[in-house]
Amino acid sequence: MEGIEERKINGLTVRIKRYNCIATGNCMKVAGELFQFDEEQISSFRPEEVTINRERLIEACRVCPVGALVVIDEEGKQIVPERNSSGGEKSE
Ligand code: SF4
Repeated sequence: MEGIEERKINGLTVRIKRYNCIATGNCMKVAGELFQFDEEQISSFRPEEVTINRERLIEACRVCPVGALVVIDEEGKQIVPERNSSGGEKSE
């Protein structure tokens, strides 16, 4: 019952903030080979390694309505959920 699961896929770091998941199933509709409900009906990674197209992986995380899925790129930049670029964030 970990609060956060994390995995590296295609160079991207994908994180499931399980305590935020409200079990809509959106992520698995887009990437059912990667995400599944565990016995608590919370999104988690499937145990097996998967090959998934980068765009679809990002899309699967973007469709989460509560921001429970986080994607960080190779440079450590968070790309999902998208951060507000109108100010406040410093890039350095
Ligand atoms: S889309 Fe978000 S809220 Fe819905 S099952 Fe996936 S992680 Fe949970």
